[in-house]
Amino acid sequence: MADLAIRNLVKRYDKTEVLHGISLDVEDGEFVVFVGPSGCGKSTTLRLIAGLEDATQGEIAIGGRVVNNLEPKDRDIAMVFQNYAIYPHMTVRKNIGFGLRTAKMSKADKEARIDEVAGILGMTDLLARKPSQLSGGQRQRVAIGRAMVRDPAVFLFDEPLSNLDAQLRTQMRLEIKKLHQRVGNTIIFVTHDQVEAMTMADRIVIMKDGHIQQVGTPAEVYHKP
Ligand code: ADP
Ligand code: ADP
Repeated sequence: MADLAIRNLVKRYDKTEVLHGISLDVEDGEFVVFVGPSGCGKSTTLRLIAGLEDATQGEIAIGGRVVNNLEPKDRDIAMVFQNYAIYPHMTVRKNIGFGLRTAKMSKADKEARIDEVAGILGMTDLLARKPSQLSGGQRQRVAIGRAMVRDPAVFLFDEPLSNLDAQLRTQMRLEIKKLHQRVGNTIIFVTHDQVEAMTMADRIVIMKDGHIQQVGTPAEVYHKP
C-alpha cells in the first residue's frame, strides 16, 4: 500500500513534448481515473509511472520513495493493458503464477498465493484451462490476477475494458470496484469512457494536450451548473 506523488513530469520524444509538467498526489488506497481525448498523454503518464519509459524531467515517488531510477519490477507497481497480454500456451495457473516468477517465495507459498488470487477473482475452477478456453472477461481477469498476485502497492490500468462488449464491461467494472474495496491498493485507471470514470473513481483527472485540465470527484467534475 502506498501513496503516489508525481512532480512536474515532462516527457519529450525527440523534439516533441507530449507531457508538459504534470503534478498529482494520489492517496494511499485511492482510486483515480484519468480521462481525456486520444493522444492527450494518459498512456504515456502510466508508462512513466510504471517505468516502461524514462521521464524527460520530473519526479515520481511511490510510498515516499523516488522511483525514477528503479526498474519496473522494483517499483511495487503492476500494470494491466487493454489487450491483456496473457500467454496462450500457458494455463490460467501458469499465467497468474508468471507474476511471481522473480518472487523470493517457496513453491508451496507461490501455489497458495495463486489459489488465493484465483479465489478472489472467482477463477478457482478455471485454473487448469488455457486462454483459448476462456471468455474475454475471464481472460481479462487472468491478466488482473497476474498483476495482483504480487500485491503491488499501485495498480495501473490502461483501458483494460475497452476490448470487451458492453455487458461484460459493466460486469468487469463492478468486479474491479469490488476488488479495490477488498484489496485496497492504490489504483490509476485510464479510460475513454465517462461512465467508467463516474462509477469507479474516487477522483477523476481530466487530461488535455499533455496537461492536467481538472481534478475532482465525479460530482465535481461532471456537475453541469
Ligand atoms: P491509445 O490512444 O490507445 O493510448 P495509441 O494508439 O495512441 O494508444 O498508441 C499505441 C502505441 O503506439 C503506444 O505504445 C504509443 O507509445 C505508440 N505511439 C503512439 N503515437 C506514436 C508516435 N507518434 N510515434 C511512435 N509511437 C507512437
Ligand atoms: P493517450 O493515452 O491519452 O491516448 P498517449 O500517451 O498514447 O495518449 O500519447 C500522447 C502523445 O504522445 C500522442 O500525441 C502520441 O502520438 C505521442 N506518443 C506516444 N508515444 C510516442 C512515441 N513512442 N513516440 C512519439 N510520440 C509518441
